[in-house]
Amino acid sequence: KGSDGKYMVTMIEGDGIGPEISQTVKDIFSAANVPIKWESVDVTPRLIDGKTSIPQEAIDSVTRNYVALKGPLATPIGKGHVSLNLTLRRTFNLFANVRPCKSIAGYKTPYDNVDLSLIRENTEGEYSGIEHVVVDGVVQSIKLITRAASERVLRFAFQYAQDVGRPKVRAVHKATIMKMSDGLFLSIAREVSKDFPNISFDAELLDNACLKIVSDPTPYNDVVLVMPNLYGDILSDMCAGLIGGLGLTPSGNIGDECSIFEAVHGSAPDIAGKGLANPTALLLSSIMMLQHMGLTQHADQIQAAIFKTLAEGKTITGDLGGKAKTAEYAAAVIKNL
Ligand code: NAD
Repeated sequence: KGSDGKYMVTMIEGDGIGPEISQTVKDIFSAANVPIKWESVDVTPRLIDGKTSIPQEAIDSVTRNYVALKGPLATPIGKGHVSLNLTLRRTFNLFANVRPCKSIAGYKTPYDNVDLSLIRENTEGEYSGIEHVVVDGVVQSIKLITRAASERVLRFAFQYAQDVGRPKVRAVHKATIMKMSDGLFLSIAREVSKDFPNISFDAELLDNACLKIVSDPTPYNDVVLVMPNLYGDILSDMCAGLIGGLGLTPSGNIGDECSIFEAVHGSAPDIAGKGLANPTALLLSSIMMLQHMGLTQHADQIQAAIFKTLAEGKTITGDLGGKAKTAEYAAAVIKNL
């Protein structure tokens, strides 16, 4: 917090629709007089000592400010690029990815009262990036599960359940098949649960969880779901589908010191630069960020304006069945502040 009473927050605008949806957040925050100054940084990778890496200024900015809001970063496939998203998560040890998925009042979907809470392990598992060719035509990819990373995210999940008032934590797994890796995750979950006697604990197979959530998500409304990396990636997109799609789901990458908030969706190259993107997911991520920073009044005010705009249904973007451009939606939210 500076001497002017404002908090400095790092802004990574990102690729594709990133700059358009970041602008919406900036416009709405300034209209709502949120006491934040943005420090925009470029994370375009640079070649440093023969390796591509995030520019040092970007790393310094997040380290200094502790909090960042991030647009989507595109990862080109098959060109030897390291995922910048993974690099950021590793650099700042952002070990837990919190993905709430809540129905938007007034926006009609098959289920009205979805209120899912999902925590994804964010540093290892299937995303360890350890892949190699065994012989021509045979590749191997290693799913790494460690006691340290599992215990850290599981402890976070129980603490999160306690903090948000959910009585149950459920580990989602495939320990029937991946007996050692998911088996370890599950056994650590049981151990950690003993330290949280007020929170009940159980476990569910991933396939069963998918079937049950799409059949009726409401029994999950008092549960915090916690799972290894890839399962969380897929399950959270599936849950996003239940409430109206990727344009609506926020997330927070939480670390020991720094936290980076971002939408669940990617850079949407198909609609980039056309002013068609739905900025709600990034806006709701920025609201998670404000709550994390303790700026709850501003968070509530902006959230209420977003929900009002969506419920009115007159100025919504194409992904939700409307005709509004990103900037028109932003103007409607500002009017509703
Ligand atoms: P995507 O999420 O970018 O797009 C999937 C579909 O959803 C597209 O049809 C897109 O138009 C639509 N969509 C997504 N966000 C939207 C929004 N806010 N408003 C309206 N429509 C929206 O997924 P993809 O096409 O698989 O990935 C594109 C790029 O994004 C890839 O390079 C990928 O690596 C990257 N990506 C980045 C992140 C991140 O930075 N956290 C996450 C996922 C994907």
